[in-house]
Amino acid sequence: SVVNEMPRTVRTAEELAEIDRRVLVHPHHHGSRQERITIVRGDGCSVWDAKGVELLDVMGAGNWVAQVGHGRRELADAAARQMSTLEYYTSFDIFANDQSITLAQRLVDLAPDGLDRVFFTNGGSESVETAFKFARLYHHHRGEPDRTWFISRNLAYHGCTFASGTATGFPGIHEGIGPEFPNVARVSTPHPYRAPDLCPGRDLTDFLIEELTATIERIGPGNVAAMIGEPVMGGAGILIPPADYWPRVRELLSRHGILLIADEVVTGFGRTGAWYDSADRGMRADVVVVAKGLTSGYAPLGAVLVSDAIAETIAGRDTYLFHGHTYSGHATACAVAHANLDLLEQEGLVERSRTIGTWLSEALALLADLPIVGEVRVAGATVGVELVADRETREPLMADWVTVALRNDHRVAAREYGNTLVMAPPLVISRPEIDRAAQALADVLRRRPAGRS
Ligand code: PMP
Repeated sequence: SVVNEMPRTVRTAEELAEIDRRVLVHPHHHGSRQERITIVRGDGCSVWDAKGVELLDVMGAGNWVAQVGHGRRELADAAARQMSTLEYYTSFDIFANDQSITLAQRLVDLAPDGLDRVFFTNGGSESVETAFKFARLYHHHRGEPDRTWFISRNLAYHGCTFASGTATGFPGIHEGIGPEFPNVARVSTPHPYRAPDLCPGRDLTDFLIEELTATIERIGPGNVAAMIGEPVMGGAGILIPPADYWPRVRELLSRHGILLIADEVVTGFGRTGAWYDSADRGMRADVVVVAKGLTSGYAPLGAVLVSDAIAETIAGRDTYLFHGHTYSGHATACAVAHANLDLLEQEGLVERSRTIGTWLSEALALLADLPIVGEVRVAGATVGVELVADRETREPLMADWVTVALRNDHRVAAREYGNTLVMAPPLVISRPEIDRAAQALADVLRRRPAGRS
């Protein structure tokens, strides 16, 4: 087994867990959770832990990635080929490599009109940081240096570095780290199911546009650099805005010269059934950030797409762009992304994502009569099941126990965000695997532990 191939000093799953507890600081970890799970292998939609237990991965390697599934030889071969040809050379200043150049062209070809240039990063947070700096630089070079404010939304997830983390709209992320990135304002979440709590008796989009207008006026329209938003909010629990939300936001921002940044880290590359989800929702974003599905998680890579006009303004003839990462345009990561896009294209996985959405809707019809299911929201190959203690009051019912029961009792690996259980499976998942996950979820929810709230 894989464990036996490890160095002689590391043999058992128990030993690994013990060392893990001793030396590893887990990202996004709740200290009181003592259990450790060591994942050692993956194939298709399955992963195996160090004890040999197989889990059905319906959460894209636990983190919204794994578009093409686990263990794909094509991506491993692409990495090996590239590493033995040119693993890496800097992309600073006049340099680039054949992989980053051709990948940039490919991303632009797939992108909505008006996104013509690509800047590479190592992931989502770095892409958001870059987008923020590009937005400020753009206004600065155009003689509007006061445009330093950003508008984000409650329950948004944009990353965990200082600027991206400030834009993230989960309260806990802001605690204990002192002064954050300045000049970020957050507005309400477009959450149709919870609109009766936010704006009783009112049209949700009308309310949100009024709030956004008031926010821009309070800051001063000439002080706002950009608004950032996920087209469909992932970490908030698959929140799909009303159809008129993005077109009206776009129109308002344009009127005030404010840029719109689409955070497609989750939604990009087929997750919701499109190469770029923002194109279908009327966002007409000035800047698009991507990561995750760009490599299906086989290598860390992110990208920021901008218009010719923005690129010319911040990195034109007479401007020095003092921004870039050692691994911007990493040749091996870009070669892996190429192989990933090849598979997405050859296997029609972006279209398949919509089929998976239909399967999810059909299979999860099982949940319709369960009193703790408030709403089931499907967007392509991703679903959020929002749990409530009471359907009348919509009082949230935390979903952590569901994730644990799915894993322990059914060997299904999903994830919860507050009171929403989320699935975002590999785009190669089969109908029987979807049915299995749906039946497991129905079983767990029917056995709701007494006294949970
Ligand atoms: N934006 C969105 C929408 C995300 O979901 C995430 C990560 N889940 C990020 C940005 C941050 O990406 P990373 O973790 O790669 O820094």
